[in-house]
Amino acid sequence: MKSEKILIRFGDLVLKGKNKHTFIKQVRSLLKEKMKKLEVKFLFQHDRIYIDFDEKIEKQVVKQLSYVSGIQSYSFVYQTTNNLDDILETAKKILEKDIKEKVRFKIETKRADKLYPLTSQEITREIAPRLLANFDHLLKVDVKNPEKTLHIEVRKEATYLYMETLKAMGGFPVGIGGKGLLMLSGGIDSPVAGYLAMKQGIAIELFHFESTPLTPLESVQKVVDLAKVLSRYMPNTTIKLHLVPFRETHEAILKNVSDPYIINIMRRMMYRLAERYANLKDILCIINGESVGQVASQTLQSIKTVENVTNIPILRPLITNDKQEIIKISKDIESYDISIRAFNDCCTVYVPKNPIIRPTVEDALKEESKFDYEPLLEEALKNIQTLRINPDTDFVIYEHGFEVTDAIKAYKEEGGML
Ligand code: ATP
Ligand code: MG
Repeated sequence: MKSEKILIRFGDLVLKGKNKHTFIKQVRSLLKEKMKKLEVKFLFQHDRIYIDFDEKIEKQVVKQLSYVSGIQSYSFVYQTTNNLDDILETAKKILEKDIKEKVRFKIETKRADKLYPLTSQEITREIAPRLLANFDHLLKVDVKNPEKTLHIEVRKEATYLYMETLKAMGGFPVGIGGKGLLMLSGGIDSPVAGYLAMKQGIAIELFHFESTPLTPLESVQKVVDLAKVLSRYMPNTTIKLHLVPFRETHEAILKNVSDPYIINIMRRMMYRLAERYANLKDILCIINGESVGQVASQTLQSIKTVENVTNIPILRPLITNDKQEIIKISKDIESYDISIRAFNDCCTVYVPKNPIIRPTVEDALKEESKFDYEPLLEEALKNIQTLRINPDTDFVIYEHGFEVTDAIKAYKEEGGML
């Protein structure tokens, strides 16, 4: 059995003092939790972490690592003693494995142990000629523009050698930035927005407006599956999904509001509900997947008219991303294939012929005065169902013992997994 080691770096922390301490504590706790099903050993040092594991589980370790925000980069490292001969032998092994064709090469030595008798330069000068003698045909020394760099780090307890530095998730450990409420549709954008918020340290709860049976139950299933993907990044690998019964409000809008304003008013209702729920639960912001100009409801005038009904901060991580950039991330985080499953959600079940591109607050208010929406919103808020989702969820736990809608019941009876 061959053991491997990964070295994890936090990068140059902008944070100082107590924040830095909180940051590192949270990364450690996320890491431990994500790896809890794997046989790994951790060595926690103040500015870095080593993980020890059997090479057979390398893929799983790397996968789990990709779910931990706050980690800047990592390397596969080889550990040896601080003895120069041992360092040389280890270096040879690495080069044998790693270098297959002629490359521009450099050795970069760091001496964290200042009591070590040689300086970093002296270590390089000792190692380089002996190493090059063995790999003369493959290595061309080029310290300015190397293709491969062998890093040697001499620390008190051991010497570590590695070649490549791989990029990790980056950002801040999820949770240290407080909590936000993600408006999650079944589309491509909102899961990506949720991922980016978590990457920047914000823990999220999911808020989904469901209009079953106006919309098919498969659209709820889609949202559950997206929630599973997002749960991978959360502390405890668990995420709360709030299903908001939106059908009555939706129908009232379709019945009362002039065609071009339907989407605009629908979104004002969604924002109102999201804000009220967030305030009830001390959630600090709303997050959504809006991107400027993408559709009629996302022009600046639309955003202004919709946002007018709320007071809470609204984060739009994708506001200036184009669709291709968003799709790229959604493929990376594996939400894309779920998002493109073809089922309508409440915004696509009825698409107005001429949605207004430049709505105004005055006209929106006029449209809203045509019906009494307050009782509908109150009713919706009262009947939210909360599900706890993790990647293995194949049944649903109802947090507050909410009534299950008939449609969901029927779906479950047919053997659907919700
Ligand atoms: P997405 O790909 O995320 O569905 P979209 O481009 O289809 O986005 P819209 O349908 O206009 O855009 O929605 C904009 C944002 O509003 C979504 O990104 C999401 O945050 C929120 N949203 C839309 N529909 C719902 C819904 N049924 N439940 C919760 N949030 C929603
Ligand atoms: Mg959508």
